Amino acid sequence: MPAIQNVKGMRDHLPADMMLRQYIVNTLTRISEAHGFEPLQTPVIEYAETLEGKLGDDEKLIYRFEDHGGRRLALRYDQTVPLARVTAQYASQLALPWRRYAYGPSYRGERPARGRYREFYQFDLDIVGSASPLADAEIVAILCEALAALGFPDFVTLLNHRQIIGGIARVSGLSEAAAGGVYRAIDKFDKIGAQGVRAELLKSGVDEAAADRILELVQIEGAPAEVLAALEQRLAGDERALAAIANLRAVIAGLTAMGVPADQYRVAPRLARGLSYYTGVVFEAITPHWPEGSLLGGGRYDDLIGLFAGRNIPTVGLAFGIDRLHDVMLELNLGPRPRTTAVAFVTLFGPEQVADSLALAAELRAAGINTLIALEPGNLGKQFKEADRRGVRLALVLGPDEIARGEVVVKDLQRGEQHALPRAAVASLLAEALTEGA
Ligand code: AMP
Repeated sequence: MPAIQNVKGMRDHLPADMMLRQYIVNTLTRISEAHGFEPLQTPVIEYAETLEGKLGDDEKLIYRFEDHGGRRLALRYDQTVPLARVTAQYASQLALPWRRYAYGPSYRGERPARGRYREFYQFDLDIVGSASPLADAEIVAILCEALAALGFPDFVTLLNHRQIIGGIARVSGLSEAAAGGVYRAIDKFDKIGAQGVRAELLKSGVDEAAADRILELVQIEGAPAEVLAALEQRLAGDERALAAIANLRAVIAGLTAMGVPADQYRVAPRLARGLSYYTGVVFEAITPHWPEGSLLGGGRYDDLIGLFAGRNIPTVGLAFGIDRLHDVMLELNLGPRPRTTAVAFVTLFGPEQVADSLALAAELRAAGINTLIALEPGNLGKQFKEADRRGVRLALVLGPDEIARGEVVVKDLQRGEQHALPRAAVASLLAEALTEGA
């Protein structure tokens, strides 16, 4: 018999976990829709060549296989490349700029670790077809709004621009070709520290003077305006870097105007972001309570969709990693922890009361109260225990005496109280009390 075992790096999510995961997804959906984003869903499987050639070094992580007809297929690596395909494929139906959100699993053949899986769920938000810095600002604002709504303490969104790193590489005397090595080395800054990055730079052929210059520049810290002013001075003469700095200033002005608290973001010239398709602003949210890595990140990728569409379609987006958010929320004890979806449990007194009890349960549900019904009449004590064991708060009893009096007994299992309520009004009274938080 094969082992009863799920595949390594892929997880089962039992109900307690799923309830928190759904809370996260519902929160993100609500905030996305508040900003007018529209849902999109695409298949998990794409033609392998759709994904190939877009991910740089990470391409080796793509799961590839052949189907029965010998077609080369792949599991999607993220939801960004499929978005690029959709944008090109349905160009005539999509009005740009288009704000879309998408939620679903992605697959990467990574080495599994805490917070890193081979199947993981992402919630993506993108604004397709706008180069406006207000689009970047809106995405970052949503990121901050969402982390605050989920209750993350002390999070900060780090902002940078690919052309600031490009400028740092250029003023340090490196060729355009060598800049890729600089991105990759700097990307590891928070993991391996300044000395580690220095060693990586030297290994990639950068000389000592250039490595020191790069390290000095990427470590500039301070309030956004100060960091940008310092960079402006140090990168003077590099037109692309200066344009990038102006662009980041416009994004930050947008964030301020959108009311994003100033302590929720920072300019960090050391932020590179791994994926090769970013072209402009990049960002990543971190919290000191999760030193293992970023909570999530994103950026502007103006060329990727063009690979499919044949014309330039500037786009900015981000991907919330649901698994990582969930892991950190569990560790920091954030978010609600319901033990079940039901609030009420309707007991079955005896066979004669089954019909009335089912009708009561239907009324409670119609009033918006999630309700479980017992499946076997008899022994009420056992039924109360069952309700309590499941974490259902209220147990309702409709026995012959209650029916004769036109009442329902409502037992609050968490508070250890019970009340007789009029049968005709019980659903609305409970609904009202529950919405008031009683
Ligand atoms: P990326 O598509 O690499 O920009 O990742 C976006 C977000 O997805 C990351 O910040 C993580 O939260 C999440 N993520 C990426 N890779 C994994 C993984 N292997 N396991 C779990 N979450 C991941």
